[in-house]
Amino acid sequence: MKKGIAILGSTGSIGIQALEVISTSPDLFSIKLLSGHSNANLLINQIDQFHPKYAIVTEENAFKTVSKAISGVKTQVFFGEKNLLQALEDQEIDIVLNALVGFAGLNPLISSIKHNKQILLANKESLVIAGELIMQMAKVNKSEIIPIDSEHSAIFQCLLGENKNTIEKIILTASGGPFLDYTVEQLKNISPERALKHPVWKMGKKVSVDSASLMNKGLEVIEARWLFDLNPNQIDVVIHPQSIIHSLVQFTDGSLKAQLSSPDMRVPIQYALHFPNRAENSISQFSLIDNPELTFRQADRKKFRNLALAFIAMEKGGNLPAILNAANEVAVQAFLDGKWPFYRIPELVEEMMNYQIFISKPDLQTYFETTKKCFADSEAYIRKHT
Ligand code: NDP
Ligand code: MG
Repeated sequence: MKKGIAILGSTGSIGIQALEVISTSPDLFSIKLLSGHSNANLLINQIDQFHPKYAIVTEENAFKTVSKAISGVKTQVFFGEKNLLQALEDQEIDIVLNALVGFAGLNPLISSIKHNKQILLANKESLVIAGELIMQMAKVNKSEIIPIDSEHSAIFQCLLGENKNTIEKIILTASGGPFLDYTVEQLKNISPERALKHPVWKMGKKVSVDSASLMNKGLEVIEARWLFDLNPNQIDVVIHPQSIIHSLVQFTDGSLKAQLSSPDMRVPIQYALHFPNRAENSISQFSLIDNPELTFRQADRKKFRNLALAFIAMEKGGNLPAILNAANEVAVQAFLDGKWPFYRIPELVEEMMNYQIFISKPDLQTYFETTKKCFADSEAYIRKHT
């Protein structure tokens, strides 16, 4: 029997690649739901191609465009998050691939868990905000979460068949982004266009800026803590500019396991879709001989202060990671809009971490409230300090 799948964020970088991978196995998966925000034309094309039962649009103008364009087709088009959450109750949906960006991924993730779906998770921000509660909820609801983020997919693979007590630490690799060798002075003149040009990966705008500022690695550190139930001191980061080793696990006997492949997100997407099996594909096979130089170096947490801030947030816990995430979301958008310089992203994050109210044991509601308050306060800080 085919598995019914919902792709949240189908118009984004991961969503598009997921649909491409799914198209290669038409007898295994049936697309039940697609969701997009502002890119109406792409969503219309995807509806034409995949005939989902539901299409959800979360931006009003795009919703109007999509509804008009596809009237008379069997797909039901709905507006907004509320309808998205409701559609996720549908029993025909077995798998939810969450490729939404930012805080918008949190509610749909919670809803997918409550309805006992299998979850393929690209949206890292939801675990950064509320990872502890989400993982508990997933356990209670027997909802399996399989990571799509390449580093976490690598660790997930390295841990198969291993005893958790034998993990010494995990090592997340980071490409270092386009500004790895920039001086502090050079970081003061970064345009959005420049930050969006990643040396290895082609990704959505937010994750591209996060990669350039190393916040992406910081978010991934927190994501890994909850996904793999580790102590903060078991998580390390190393710069590996070639992005071939996607991450490593070091065991108590001194052994290291790593997962390597060409840097292509379709590999971890396909792995998650087919887990516990592996499927063939036409993605170029990685060759060690063609890539003789795999290099590593320490991450500079002084120059890239975001990474240091993420470690602090992880270690202190509570609602601090949610504060870090919310401030970063606002700072990145302001940078993309030309309203805030790249090098001041960590300033805003640190300011919010220092002055928002710290809550050591938040419930779910508190994570939502923290995020919304921090969004508003971050926007106010930007208005005041530019
Ligand atoms: P994109 O920006 O390319 O896509 C985001 C998707 O979410 C789009 O479909 C977009 O719709 C939709 N969206 C945007 N804002 C909202 C909103 N407010 N409400 C509902 N939907 C919204 O992002 P990526 O695909 O690059 O990344 C998605 C997630 O995966 C992120 O958390 C990222 O960190 C993670 N990830 C991405 C990787 C990559 O290679 N891209 C690698 C590993 C992890 P629309 O485009 O129609 O506006
Ligand atoms: Mg990653």
